[in-house]
Amino acid sequence: MVQDQQDLDLYSKEYARQLDEHDELASYRDEFYINPNSIYMDGNSLGLLSKRAEQSLLDVLGAWKHQGIDGWTQGQYPWFYLAEKLAAMSAPLVGASADEVIVTGSTTVNLHQLVATFYKPQGIRTKILADELNFPSDIYALQSQLKLHGYDPDEHLIRVASRDGRFLQEEDIIAAMTEEVALIVLPAVLYRSGQLLDMKRLSAEAHARGILIGFDGCHSVGSIPHSFSEWDVDFAFWCNYKYLNSGPGGTASLYVNRKHHGITPGLTGWFGSHKDKQFDMEHQFHQADTAGAFQIGTPNILSMAPLIGSLELFAEATMEKLRQKSLHITRYMMELIKHELSDMGFTLGNPTEDERRGGHVSLEHQEAARICKALKELQHIVPDFRAPNIIRLAPVPLYTSYSDVWETVQRLKAVMVDKQYEKFANMRDVVA
Ligand SMILES: *Cc1c(COP(=O)(O)O)cnc(C)c1O
Repeated sequence: MVQDQQDLDLYSKEYARQLDEHDELASYRDEFYINPNSIYMDGNSLGLLSKRAEQSLLDVLGAWKHQGIDGWTQGQYPWFYLAEKLAAMSAPLVGASADEVIVTGSTTVNLHQLVATFYKPQGIRTKILADELNFPSDIYALQSQLKLHGYDPDEHLIRVASRDGRFLQEEDIIAAMTEEVALIVLPAVLYRSGQLLDMKRLSAEAHARGILIGFDGCHSVGSIPHSFSEWDVDFAFWCNYKYLNSGPGGTASLYVNRKHHGITPGLTGWFGSHKDKQFDMEHQFHQADTAGAFQIGTPNILSMAPLIGSLELFAEATMEKLRQKSLHITRYMMELIKHELSDMGFTLGNPTEDERRGGHVSLEHQEAARICKALKELQHIVPDFRAPNIIRLAPVPLYTSYSDVWETVQRLKAVMVDKQYEKFANMRDVVA
């Protein structure tokens, strides 16, 4: 990638330093609060705080401080329109129009809302299709929605099996799209292996069989570009606190394809009203003719405020450049891992083809839990452990440097060579 480095050792610290020098996104690191004493590789679980996100939160607090209730309609970011403003800022990240997105609720609540809206069992079409590697909260939501319809989830929730415990084959998913399936919910990027599913293909195949399809974008939005509208995805939902850096418990988002606007939300509430009608206080629900209809109650303004500043950074850096760096820096990490950590019991558990992988590297090891503990406590690297055997490492293009990646692999090597992990029990912590 960098021409004048051909004579350099590709695995050297100097090479990492040069990659940083040529990184056109390098300056964004200064926009974030980075702990100088540790290396953060967990941005796929909780993104770091940026100065702009902090500022937009302070601005919104200021409006409350100085304007009280008038903050709903006045000030820099009138709260009554904040969900829609943030939707317009998010839309380019998912390939949607502004009116197809809304910032609201939490990931799991939004999934409930969307399934309550789009799951309409009829005749023999009564089943929901998901996969056995899906995030547990999504599965719980699907199970409970089936129960609300009086169905036994053991029978009506189909979970496509993984052949190897890591990946899903699109062919297997398509083969499971039978005439009994009413709705499909799948991850865009799998949370463990980082596999990126072919959403365009799956949407086309689902529609060819008369099935609606939606995607969980928790591990994809802010990490890869999307074209939800072009791919004709019916709906999607995602959190904003992972790659989008909106802070712990930050308000989530959802997407509803324009062709479905006007459908009655499964769970209605007054914030789903047409904005001009909401304060008429009638008992007749006049729903918004946008994805805003899927809001329920008063938005969590303080949990949305950091997203204002954060999304500005994405607009400036652009998703295309972020993805380019993400692919490059994760490839670099995989090369270093192969070179430095061979014969130490690691298996690379993420896909290696660029079009099939998201933003993190997934390392499998029998001692993963305690390797993570040693990394964090002795080596000051913040990794992410996922039971039973996965170390997730996410070099985030906005704030991770190539030198961080180099250091991380060196310190991981030290943990292995000196068997530092043996000082810890191989068990996960409460929040892993
Ligand atoms: C992080 C994550 C969630 C979290 O859901 P919350 O409602 O925000 O707690 C759900 N699904 C997936 C795939 C995730 O990665």
